Amino acid sequence: MKIDRIETIHLRFEYADGFLYAGGKCTARVTSLVLVHTDDGRTGVGAVYSHPGLVELVVKKQLEPLLVGDDPTDTETLWWKMYRLTRWYGRKGAAMSALGGIDTACWDLKGQAAGKPVWKLLGGSTPSCPAYASALLWKTPAELGEEAGTLIEKGFRRVKMRLGRGDDYDRPAVLAVRKAIGANNDVMCDGSMRYSLDAARELGKFLAEQRVFWFEEPFEPEAIDDYAALRGTIGIPLAAGENEFGLQGFRELLRAKAVDIVQPDVCRCGGLTEAKRTADLAREFGARVAPHTWSDAATVLANAHLVGSIDHGVTVEVDQTGNPFIEELLEEPLRVVDGRLQLSDAPGLGIRLKQSTLDRYRLSDPDTLPDGSYSDMVFGKKYLV
Ligand SMILES: [Mg+2]
Repeated sequence: MKIDRIETIHLRFEYADGFLYAGGKCTARVTSLVLVHTDDGRTGVGAVYSHPGLVELVVKKQLEPLLVGDDPTDTETLWWKMYRLTRWYGRKGAAMSALGGIDTACWDLKGQAAGKPVWKLLGGSTPSCPAYASALLWKTPAELGEEAGTLIEKGFRRVKMRLGRGDDYDRPAVLAVRKAIGANNDVMCDGSMRYSLDAARELGKFLAEQRVFWFEEPFEPEAIDDYAALRGTIGIPLAAGENEFGLQGFRELLRAKAVDIVQPDVCRCGGLTEAKRTADLAREFGARVAPHTWSDAATVLANAHLVGSIDHGVTVEVDQTGNPFIEELLEEPLRVVDGRLQLSDAPGLGIRLKQSTLDRYRLSDPDTLPDGSYSDMVFGKKYLV
């Protein structure tokens, strides 16, 4: 089996109203799929979230010519080949995410060729993994309570909410969600990088009183000393890593004893190969792994295969903000039963893309992305906070 060509499919969905979050005003969602086609007619699927124009440039202009003719199942060799080519302008950011999309697609092919699901190739034994609903953006406490209740009714046992809006908002918001989900379900709180160390300490103690499952990313990713100072002082786990790339970045976090839970994202941090390396390193440091996951259902599955294969995998994130690339991208929609995302025994990643969704949302020119579009960051000056 050899790589014949690599295809990119960029998708964009425009909201009627959009939503406000800590980074700005989101009016549309974008994601990029990377399809690795082989000479024997197979297709592996990976995903990337970054600016589609950057993904297009790196995948089509740089990496596809490098990889055509190679064996896609040789994931380790291919990963280093891609990394070495992009190292001088990559290592963190778009190039790392883009090579990761190809790497993840190659893992899909590796599973298909072996006739095994990726979770099994990685050493897992159960076709499911814990999952949590990621939603609860900045809304009134009453709206948050109602939404949290709905998420529990859908089968989730953990929900994540966004804070970072100030004390007047944060505390009533947490109380509303805790009340709505009851004592037997979990809530996580995302700080969206908006706290000082002192403010995070104060809020962290309140979150511990509310038995919050983890406190996520109170600081910017560069503020490793602040993470290290906070960790262990608030009585609940500290989680971070969605804005980190590559093993080297996570090694720095772990060496500094800055986090209890690392959040690498297969579709951002450098692919399944790099996320697995990160998980292995986390184990050495006694840290747990809960991948960040956001833009599409292919991403959810890729991260879920990793979580389901490691015993220090905590849970996988499932966007529940009304994103068609979660709800409508797959022929068989994601299924969460009693807090667990169901995986299958299908070879590879088990991703079957729904053609009608690809046709409906395909972005014709990845370079001309309308402002307000969002791929875990908002593009366009007037939409930024
Ligand atoms: Mg987050």
